[in-house]
Amino acid sequence: MTDIKSLTIQKLNKILSDAGLPKFRANQIFNWLHKSGCTSFDDMTNISKPLREKLASDFYISSCEIEEKYVSKLDGTVKYLFRLCDGEYVESVIMKYKYGYTICVSSQVGCKMGCTFCASTLAGFKRNLTAGEIESQLHTAQKDLGIRISNIVMMGIGEPLDNFENVIDFLDIVNSPEGLNISMRNITISTCGIVPKIYDLMERDLQLTLTISLHAPNDEIRSRTMPINRRYPVEELITACKKYAQKTNRRVSFEYTLIKDVNDSKADALELSRLLKGMLCHVNLIPVNNVEECANIQSSRENIEKFADILKKNGINATIRRTLGSDINASCGQLRRIKKRGEIDENSSKN
Ligand code: SAH
Repeated sequence: MTDIKSLTIQKLNKILSDAGLPKFRANQIFNWLHKSGCTSFDDMTNISKPLREKLASDFYISSCEIEEKYVSKLDGTVKYLFRLCDGEYVESVIMKYKYGYTICVSSQVGCKMGCTFCASTLAGFKRNLTAGEIESQLHTAQKDLGIRISNIVMMGIGEPLDNFENVIDFLDIVNSPEGLNISMRNITISTCGIVPKIYDLMERDLQLTLTISLHAPNDEIRSRTMPINRRYPVEELITACKKYAQKTNRRVSFEYTLIKDVNDSKADALELSRLLKGMLCHVNLIPVNNVEECANIQSSRENIEKFADILKKNGINATIRRTLGSDINASCGQLRRIKKRGEIDENSSKN
């Protein structure tokens, strides 16, 4: 069966008009699904009962339920573990900023990318999320908290560019005036660097922010921590980013997680400055979050500040990321992993 919530307005229109329904019906249904976040056809009160029954026999509506919820006492950040229709889990985080609420959404159940410092990859890859499941994370959080989310970052579990078509449909859906109507300028996609997909995204010429998880100034360090670099090395990645910035006129962001004695030396900062020189970009420096199995140690605050200074002195725009939700394990991947581990333990103790 098709997930009706994953259909863009164009696709929904086409399917319904092929079935002989007028265009305003598609708009009404789209409105229910995306503006109201409806999870049942029965709630669509301006649609006739026979049509609701017909829809329910042809389609299902994807959704996600709250399995666990944590609220930070420090800054109000909320983290959810969501359960999907098939019992899989993903995570989302809601952060409050001066300009409104931002959600960090997951794009896949697990991740194939294998970055050595990242919790999302530890529990393995299960499947892609549908466009509707990505959007449901917003709806469920909005309803639960009674808020309206204005910004989206695709920095939860998964690699968004490894689920390209569904992510593009999700962007189309949340951007639709008939739906949540969230501006592309308020959306960020983060990638570990799947170069051909960066070019595919560039062709769409969207006004979103592209963020690259760079985390290293050269191939030697990057290939050790991020397997994707063996396929698409730093130079190819940076070339793609430069072309992306030129074509879309949007500043590219780089995430750089500082790990003690791995990528945080003065020489690394200088090499990174040379790598990014002259590029329309911004570097976000992040202290690595400790993940139990990974044994990475955070750089000291002093060292991170020194690293930032070197970049700035060399003309690179850089900031140190403020940490939110540090008391609730807010970085993604941890809850699903713990949950999965719990299930494995439970199952093995049953046997
Ligand atoms: N797969 C995409 C989206 C995930 S975004 C990507 O790689 O960009 C999640 C961000 O958090 C990425 O920048 C990732 O590299 C970073 N990250 C993962 N584990 C981390 C950790 N333990 N500490 C700090 N940042 C981490």
